[in-house]
Amino acid sequence: MQILVVEDDQALAAGLCTALRRQNYAVNTVSSGKQALHVIRTETPDITILDLGLPDMDGIEVLKQARSEQPSLQILVLTARSHIDQKIIGLDSGADDYLAKPFEIPELLARLRVLERRLGTATSTEIIVGEVTLDTATNRVLLQGDELELSRREFMLLRSLMENVGRVQSRNTLETRLYSWGEEVASNALEVHVHNLRKKLGSDFIKTVRGVGYRVNQP
Ligand code: CA
Repeated sequence: MQILVVEDDQALAAGLCTALRRQNYAVNTVSSGKQALHVIRTETPDITILDLGLPDMDGIEVLKQARSEQPSLQILVLTARSHIDQKIIGLDSGADDYLAKPFEIPELLARLRVLERRLGTATSTEIIVGEVTLDTATNRVLLQGDELELSRREFMLLRSLMENVGRVQSRNTLETRLYSWGEEVASNALEVHVHNLRKKLGSDFIKTVRGVGYRVNQP
């Protein structure tokens, strides 16, 4: 799951990044409306967290443009509590949810999980595919009821596949969900993670779709 944080308050942006990465999200940040629209156009994230108080553009304008260009992008708007009217305008302008500052990180995470469920095929925090159960709230994976030890990337990869059960996920999509900008990615990194997951989950849980990517199927 890739999240774009649009926030000009550097301390808040850095704090959000740390908290979200700890929850196994790939996170990128920009600090202006123009940069946000550029990223949304060129490498659309799954979810955008958009602060409405930006230095260069009215956040509502950013929201409207992002919404008109990327209808399926999930957008969570951040507003100052003193600007609560922005909530109404924001929701009318196409925000999927909003949060007033200051907010608690657990509340933000809960809201994000709701948005994520709209994106994928999953309907609760627990995703069950065959004998594998993955819980997006606790970050635990069970195989036939036994907990598996997965690395952070293995978990992110498995989660992306299980959230989209039955759909092929391209290599490119999976890589953008696993890595933030500027991270060194070896060209075979994805294959290595798939290989390791197959050792833990059995060789046919993750199917290779030649020349395209990977998929898991509901048996
Ligand atoms: Ca701001």
